[in-house]
Amino acid sequence: MTKQFEGKLYSLQVAPEDCTGCVLCVNACPAYKKNPDGTKSEVKAINMALQAPIRETERANWEFFLNELPDTDPATFNMETPKGSQFVRPLFEFSGACSGCGETPYVKLMTQLFGDRALCANATGCSSIYGGNLPTTPYCRRADGRGPVWSNSLFEDNAEFGYGMRLTADKLNVYAAELVKELVPEMYDELMQADQSTQAGIEEQRKRVAGLMHRLESLKR
Ligand code: SF4
Repeated sequence: MTKQFEGKLYSLQVAPEDCTGCVLCVNACPAYKKNPDGTKSEVKAINMALQAPIRETERANWEFFLNELPDTDPATFNMETPKGSQFVRPLFEFSGACSGCGETPYVKLMTQLFGDRALCANATGCSSIYGGNLPTTPYCRRADGRGPVWSNSLFEDNAEFGYGMRLTADKLNVYAAELVKELVPEMYDELMQADQSTQAGIEEQRKRVAGLMHRLESLKR
């Protein structure tokens, strides 16, 4: 265990009313509970059980997990590693895909790595059905409201559709830079030269943009 996690406990909490019962987590989990004397028991750390007898208890545990336990401090892990990425709250949850679908863990991982700024141009297929079973969607938002944006185009034009989203984002960026140069030139260099190659850098740039918006508001008065 690395030093910053010494003395801390790690909990995996199942959402009792959304588990589809595929058993994959139980099969994949390498951990076993310990006997009272500290030796390894034959009982796995996570196990299947009938839902009805434990529904109320686990519902309360789930609520506690969501509302009372803080998200892991991003300063304590490197999210650009396989292990670190799993400490980031996913922005994809409870899809309507088949139980045990092998595709959805990749979508979940994508939202852990890029979800606060992802633009999804979803080709038609399973992922567009479980990703956009409107009026609901399994994509969700961070506490600050940031999350993936998603749209689906029909069948073979998906590459052009995604390319259009990319060009639009690039054009908006160019236009925003032009406006900054014109309206608040003193902020131009700081904003345009900011290092956004890491998540921490992106979060810092968001703070600068919030400052820019504040400054623009003051110019209106
Ligand atoms: S890829 Fe589609 S068909 Fe296959 S398990 Fe996932 S949702 Fe079901």
